[in-house]
Parts: sequence; structure tokens; C-alpha cells
Amino acid sequence: MKIFVLNCGSSSIKYQLIEHESKNVLARGVIERIGMDGTFLKHYGRDGQAVEIKRHIANHSAGIQLVLNVLIDKENGVINDLSEISAFGHRVVHGGEAFREATLINEQVIEDIKKCITMAPLHNPANLAGINACRELMPEVPHAAVFDTAFHQSIPAKAYLYGLPYDLYVKYGLRKYGFHGISHQYVSERAAEYLQKDLSELRLVSCHLGNGASLAAIKGGKSVDTSMGFTPLEGLVMGTRCGEVDPAIIPFIMDREDMTGRQVYQYLNNKAGVLGISGLSSDFRDLERAAEDGDERAQLAMDIFSYRVKKYIGSYAVAMGGIDAIIFTAGLGENSDAIRESICSDLEFLGARLDREKNRLRGGIREIGTDGDSLKLLVIPTNEELVIAEETARLCPHMV
Ligand code: ADP
Repeated sequence: MKIFVLNCGSSSIKYQLIEHESKNVLARGVIERIGMDGTFLKHYGRDGQAVEIKRHIANHSAGIQLVLNVLIDKENGVINDLSEISAFGHRVVHGGEAFREATLINEQVIEDIKKCITMAPLHNPANLAGINACRELMPEVPHAAVFDTAFHQSIPAKAYLYGLPYDLYVKYGLRKYGFHGISHQYVSERAAEYLQKDLSELRLVSCHLGNGASLAAIKGGKSVDTSMGFTPLEGLVMGTRCGEVDPAIIPFIMDREDMTGRQVYQYLNNKAGVLGISGLSSDFRDLERAAEDGDERAQLAMDIFSYRVKKYIGSYAVAMGGIDAIIFTAGLGENSDAIRESICSDLEFLGARLDREKNRLRGGIREIGTDGDSLKLLVIPTNEELVIAEETARLCPHMV
């Protein structure tokens, strides 16, 4: 069963065609700069060969049509006919309280995803554009929505409610939702397999550290707390996002910098985080290089990032009554030994000592703590597309 997995951003489309039974990725790629100058499609198809197509792509629908054409293209294609695609799996960022798990898409589901737009104005419209385009192009196959928020719906009210009047929760759904749930769920399941333990017995802290970054406290396989909130702006200091700040700072910036509320929101999303602190870059590779060359603000930005992660780990250790494993995943969590080292310093009291040699090694799932320690330190590459494909297949049992 071949499943087309789609992750649409406001100006990008990432996709994979996955053969469900073998878990093989038959093709993958990305379109960037949709609706802008310099749109391009980078497609990895047969034998992993990269093909780059530069052409104006006005919207998501045109982009998806182009990708489908490439999939069946004589030269670069990996399938003979689009009828070989059995189902579509769509990543949806915000499912609010309406979705506790993945679901097949129908008109009601579309309406419910639309209702969540106010909570994810940057993400959900793009996700819906992808869903609508695919359903129009291939209405005869099932389409599934897999939500970033769903895994966190197990978080109890004492952790998801803010210190705000309860009416605001009732009227507007103002509460913590949490994101990266697809990734947190995936790595927690892999951790249990690796440790040969039942997930129901484990207390895990999953650190998804990419451009966007969040931690999740996972007890017995269920998310019990997470660092992102009502939107993906809360929590850690990220590439360009500020994470938690004193809310009084927002009207202060509005007054002093002569900005509207919406402008401050954009500013805190796009100009803050380690980019804003360093004044240099949101990419930790740039920051690591600059810090090595003596740039103090680049070093400070990384220190602030790691310190915030450590504080969350500490608070989750208390919230769960201990931790059995800390998992590092996503671009930075999987690749930066320097960041892992600074996060894992001084964790002896929790039962973990980083093994510097192991921490420098690369590869798949691996342990980076000292043998025999009670708290395990794990690096687990995430694979959100595979989870989306598996959830989609689970919802289409008649097709398997
Ligand atoms: P997202 O999916 O949120 O866009 P990723 O999970 O792809 O992000 O992570 C991207 C980030 O990972 C980059 O911005 C960079 O900071 C970091 N990163 C990737 N590779 C490395 C590396 N080798 N060393 C340090 N940081 C890295």
C-alpha cells in the first residue's frame, strides 16, 4: 500500500511517498517559495537521485499537481499511475480539543480544522490548502489528518490551564495544546523498544530540538505536560521564537517600538529566539562556528537555549516523580553534540552522566550516557512522515 504523506507550510510543501509494508520511502521532496519569485521543487526519486525543477508555482494546488506529475514522469517517476496511491496522510498542526487522534477527512473534519485556524493562523490554513488541493485532485482515495496536538490531549487540566479567568477557556479554548506530538509519540515508542521496557512503565522526557523546539513529559506512554502552549510560541527559546516571556513585555514593546499587537506577535515569532539574542543566525551550525571564533553573543544564545531546556527537564522530573530516560531528537537534538553536552551537564543528581565519546558518535538510535546509569540518555532520529503513513494505514484497514 503506497501512502502519499504531505506536510504543507504557508509557502512550502514537503512530501514523501511511502510503501507502508516495507516502510520504504519511494520518493520525497520539497517545494519552497510557493507564490513568490524563485519557486523550486527538489525531488528525490528513483535511486535517491535529486531533480530540481524551477518554475513559478502560484499556489498549493499547482504545487501538488506538479509533484503528482513528477511521480508518474517517465524519467524521474517512481510509479506508473496515480491509481497506485492508496491513501493520503496530511499533517495538521492544530486540532484543538476536537481531535484526540488521527481521523479520516470528511466535510465535518474540514469544518473542525477550520475552527482551529484562530489558534494556528500561520499553519492550519496551509494544511487546509494542501488537503483541499489533494481531495480535488484525487477525491476517490481516502485522506487522513494526523495532528501535532492530538498526542498532548492526555495532558491534565492542572497542566494545560493558564492562570487566566476560566471564562476565556470556555469562550475561546484558551489553554495549552502543545505541538510536535507526532514526533514525541514516535520517539517515546522507539525508546521503549530500545530499552526493552513496556512504555506503560516509563517516565520519559522527549526533547524535540529543531527550528521549532519543545519538550514533552511522557508518563506511561501518555503526554502529561509539554513546553509549547496555546501556540508554538511558548516554552523554549527557539531559532526565531522567543518562548516564554513576561506577558507585560508585549504592551511594553507595542508602546516603545510603535507596533500593533499583531506586529509584536510576528516579531516574537520571527525575529526573537537565538537569532534575536545573537544578532547573527537562527541556525545553530552558524552559532557554533561563531562561538568557536569568539563571538560572545552566539555563545550566550546557545547557553540561554540549553539552560531553558535544563529547567524544563528539572520541572518534568518533579512533575513525574523521576525520569527513566531523556530523548534527544530533530535537527539539533540529533546532530549537535555541543548542545547535548551543555544540556546534560550537572545531571548526576538525576542519575545521568554524559559519555563524551559516545556523544560525539553519529548514527541511528544510540545511548550517550555512561553504562550502568539509572537515567538513560538517548538520541533517537524522529520520523514524523512514517508516523503519518502508519496512522493513515491504520485508518484504512480494508486497503492493507
Ligand atoms: P524544523 O523541522 O523545525 O525546520 P529541523 O528539525 O530540521 O527543524 O532542525 C533544523 C535545525 O537543526 C537547524 O536550524 C540547525 O539549528 C539544527 N542543526 C541541524 N544540523 C545541525 C548540526 N550538524 N549541528 C548543529 N545544529 C544542527
